[in-house]
Amino acid sequence: MTVTASWIAGASVADGAETHHIIDPATGRAVAECALASPADVDAAVAAARAALPEWAGATPAERSAVLATLARLAGEHAEQLVAEEVRQTGKPVRLAAEFDVPGSIDNIDFFAGAARHLEGKATAEYSGDHTSSIRREAVGVVATITPWNYPLQMAVWKVLPALAAGCAVVIKPSELTPLTTLTLARLAREAGLPDGAFNVVTGAGPDVGAALAGHREVDMVTFTGSTAVGRTVMAAAAAQGHRVQLELGGKAPFVVFDDADLDAAIQGAVAAALINTGQDCTAATRAIVATDLYDDFVAGVAEVMGKVVVGDPDDPDTDLGPLISAAHREKVAGMVARAPAEGGRVVTGGVAPERPGWFYLPTLIADVAEQSEVYRDEIFGPVLTVRAFTDDDDALRQANDTEYGLAASAWTRDVYRAQRASREIKAGCVWINDHIPIISEMPHGGVGASGFGKDMSDYSLEEYLTVKHVMSDITGVADKAWHRTVFAKR
Ligand code: NAD
Repeated sequence: MTVTASWIAGASVADGAETHHIIDPATGRAVAECALASPADVDAAVAAARAALPEWAGATPAERSAVLATLARLAGEHAEQLVAEEVRQTGKPVRLAAEFDVPGSIDNIDFFAGAARHLEGKATAEYSGDHTSSIRREAVGVVATITPWNYPLQMAVWKVLPALAAGCAVVIKPSELTPLTTLTLARLAREAGLPDGAFNVVTGAGPDVGAALAGHREVDMVTFTGSTAVGRTVMAAAAAQGHRVQLELGGKAPFVVFDDADLDAAIQGAVAAALINTGQDCTAATRAIVATDLYDDFVAGVAEVMGKVVVGDPDDPDTDLGPLISAAHREKVAGMVARAPAEGGRVVTGGVAPERPGWFYLPTLIADVAEQSEVYRDEIFGPVLTVRAFTDDDDALRQANDTEYGLAASAWTRDVYRAQRASREIKAGCVWINDHIPIISEMPHGGVGASGFGKDMSDYSLEEYLTVKHVMSDITGVADKAWHRTVFAKR
């Protein structure tokens, strides 16, 4: 069994530490043993980052870019290992890990290798007439990062890479359930030439290691991806220290099907967007809102496609749907589905756990859900799609926005004006038209409302890790400056 531990200042640190098991959700069996970081380890990791900062922040953009480009190459060379680790610790199907998680992460590393050389600011100019004003973009400093278990490698890359590209040093705490690929990434970064201490990983649970990091005095910024409830705790801890915060939180994405939509495309798109990563995706389609005329055909079509989804061994390339992350999480999902009928929901398909080891749960469709019902309002984070009908376009957009979340949404229509109206009026960080889920390194990801604030991916995320400094230089060379007379008239 793999034995692993925190990675601090370029070395594995596990002196006499307490350990816990990393469990394969497809079997319930331990696949690795991981030493838990102590409070002293968190301090050491932050100190290592602080020590590494001058060298890394002081490197030229081209030097930083070269190291990150090497990391992208090494990650490509270790793609098989990264896929295997991701499948083992999350239970996700190997096809998803090999075609989405790992190549997407490598592309993102590659993107930030380039972005490191594209610092932006207002043009240097003599705005006052008497001074030259210029903008410096400087690294925020030491960044504390906390990530979830659903896409461990991608979430680490989305946080760590823009921070490194900006010249920051990082301490990341991955989910205690899924630290393996984050640790591999840190090792590869060292091999790529990153200075020791610029990328540290502390392993352990949220309430102790995560809380210690989020509230650490010596970090400059806290960036978090996870649930809305924990995100707010993290923000409070960071606020107590006055640190900059970025939050990527939960979602409850609407999937709006207008009466002129391509129904087959909407049905297929709904199944793919609801079931990706076993529905453990913050942007997953969760609330289908469908025109009355198409409602029955949509429900029947989605149920039929869901019935063909192959649930099973994540290592089998033919498997579509893997298990949920843990027994506790499956219990939560199953409990929400079980309570749905009491609130008016009709379970059309699924709603059961198959008879096999691991924490599998069948694709589930719940129709006729009430607007105030739990499955319609709260994040389920499982392979569950709910459906409601709408009467007219106003009603459709009202329902789409009837949520505290605002991460992602989609509108399905062949009418360009409807599409434009939906993209304008739906409150979300991303609105897809006639698709739902695709992401791309050049474009930002991040929400509004209870889904958080700030951006991952794209040049916008680089901005999160940079400060803006104004340098204003007198160009007159005179002691007696005109503006002094506003303060004192005579010398
Ligand atoms: P979570 O909030 O339970 O945990 C996220 C991380 O926070 C983990 O590393 C955990 O150990 C840590 N943590 C827990 N308690 C903490 C505390 N008190 N102080 C500091 N850290 C603490 O989330 P999860 O169950 O790992 O992931 C699922 C959630 O993540 C869902 O809500 C999902 O929507 C969200 N998510 C959002 C995005 C996005 O981009 N918006 C992406 C992926 C996942």
